[in-house]
Amino acid sequence: MEDVMHLMCAARGCPNRWTVDAGDGHLCSRHAWKPAKEWPSITEDIKAAPVQTMSAVEYRKVSDEEKLAILRKVEEMFSHSNHKRWAHALREREARGERLTPYQRSAWKEALGVRE
Ligand SMILES: [Zn+2]
Repeated sequence: MEDVMHLMCAARGCPNRWTVDAGDGHLCSRHAWKPAKEWPSITEDIKAAPVQTMSAVEYRKVSDEEKLAILRKVEEMFSHSNHKRWAHALREREARGERLTPYQRSAWKEALGVRE
C-alpha cells in the first residue's frame, strides 16, 4: 500500500499530488476543472513551468483541521469499501481511450480480478 500512485493526480504524467476528488479520479487543481482532452497540454505546462504551480492558493498554510480531513480521506481510500476505487478510475480512463502504462493496466486488472 506504499504505492504513491494513490496520492498522485490522475492525469497521466502529472507531477502534482491530487487535491480535488473529481468523482472518477483524484486530480490536482490544475487538471480538475478542465476537460480530459486538455490534460496532456496542461501536464506539459506544469512540467515546463513548475513555478506556476506555487500559487498562494495551493501552497497556503494547511490548518490542522484540513490535515485531519486529508488524513481521513486517505484512510477512506484505503478502507475496505473504497480500496478499489482507484482501479475503477483507471479502468474508466482506459475505456475512454486513454493509454495507460503497462503497470497501471495490470494493476487495475489484478485489483478487479480481470484476466488479460
Ligand atoms: Zn494534475
